[in-house]
Amino acid sequence: MFIHFEVVEPFAENSWLIGCRRTGRAALIDPGGRVPELLARATAEELQVEQILLTHAHIDHISGVAEAVEATAAPVALHADDLPLYEALEQQAQMFGLDARKPPAPEHELVKGQGIHIGDLQAQVLHVPGHSPGHVAFWFADRRLVISGDVLFAGSIGRTDLPGGSHVTLMDSIRRVLLPLGDDVRVLTGHGPETTVGQEREHNPFLTGLAGL
Ligand SMILES: [Zn+2]
Ligand SMILES: [Zn+2]
Repeated sequence: MFIHFEVVEPFAENSWLIGCRRTGRAALIDPGGRVPELLARATAEELQVEQILLTHAHIDHISGVAEAVEATAAPVALHADDLPLYEALEQQAQMFGLDARKPPAPEHELVKGQGIHIGDLQAQVLHVPGHSPGHVAFWFADRRLVISGDVLFAGSIGRTDLPGGSHVTLMDSIRRVLLPLGDDVRVLTGHGPETTVGQEREHNPFLTGLAGL
């Protein structure tokens, strides 16, 4: 399994290039930008980007989708509950005083429990709403690794003050879906450094009950 990420400003968002070494097949996950760098790396690793997978449709995770589709012709996959956010990219951009290019409509709908294949790599779609209604995580069970977007961070959790956000729902997603994956599981997050489920279960102030004291 090949894993590479680029940090995209101004939100310090992690954009992922995930590839299967044996087959040369690859996916971009949350290409918020730095698309030329991601694709150059794919070329250097002899990987072919064949799909664009989105954990959710906030501007920082989808700003590079239009450019990525143009360069690769890869189909975009998104959970239906985040489609309104996806279609409102221009309004999201205005909110932050940024420019954004409207991406083509997603060709595939991500559904809870669905299997994703990137060459020999297999992942399962986990629905983890709260930060946004249609937020998903990609669970590579046999690699003990989850790409979790903006649900859980090293020492923090996703914000829930944006439209469609819910703190109660987010905490439920973390406790019911992410924590049971197991303490050894690597968590590749949408912002900041990677962590593990065990590290967050033990030390994340939002999970230990210390936050807000
Ligand atoms: Zn977000
Ligand atoms: Zn984000």
